[in-house]
Amino acid sequence: MCSGAHVLEFLRYLDQFGKTKVHNQTCPFFGLPNPPAPCPCPLRQAWGSLDALIGRLRAAYEEHGGRPEGNPFGARSVRIYLREVRDFQAKARGVSYDKKRKRPKPKVAAAAAVTAAAAAAAAAADPSTG
Ligand SMILES: [Zn+2]
Repeated sequence: MCSGAHVLEFLRYLDQFGKTKVHNQTCPFFGLPNPPAPCPCPLRQAWGSLDALIGRLRAAYEEHGGRPEGNPFGARSVRIYLREVRDFQAKARGVSYDKKRKRPKPKVAAAAAVTAAAAAAAAAADPSTG
């Protein structure tokens, strides 16, 4: 049985593949979005990536018949971990995640509508159906 603890392990494991510099509190560049020099702070997974990943996994779990109340990706410990990561990265990098993020237009729905319109137009133009 997968639990929130395993999800946390997985998230920490992913950090080693991260590309986002997250300064330690002891680093002179802590809180600077654009540090003027290199520093030995580790690269981590950006909070936004982790949050998006967990969101997808949580949805996938339920799509495959998992019960929401047993969803390890929605576990309280996972939500707390993500919140801590967000708060720390916001401080460490001098950025605020509270700013409204630009929502991308729902491309999938638009593409489907275009496809449907194209199919309808094609059917109307098809002489064999008339
Ligand atoms: Zn640093």
